[in-house]
Amino acid sequence: MITPIYRVQCDGPGKEWLSLPEGHVTGADVTADNLIAAPTAKRACNWPGEKEAKRAAVGAGWRHAPDSDFKTWFCPACQSAGTRP
Ligand SMILES: [Zn+2]
Repeated sequence: MITPIYRVQCDGPGKEWLSLPEGHVTGADVTADNLIAAPTAKRACNWPGEKEAKRAAVGAGWRHAPDSDFKTWFCPACQSAGTRP
């Protein structure tokens, strides 16, 4: 789901958070392809708006459930595990 503070969490069994990569330096550029799915919210990204959060999630390979109105999201690992509805 995408929460009101614009973080993205996987709705699959892993409940991963779309997060900054290990070793990320504050202020360094973050691009969609270096975001990771982390097991905790410790390094979860905060986006300024829902639009930005969605764009980052899609860029990182996350996909929303087609009938979820962009509320339900799955990280790449959960998609390949076949948990996508
Ligand atoms: Zn997942």
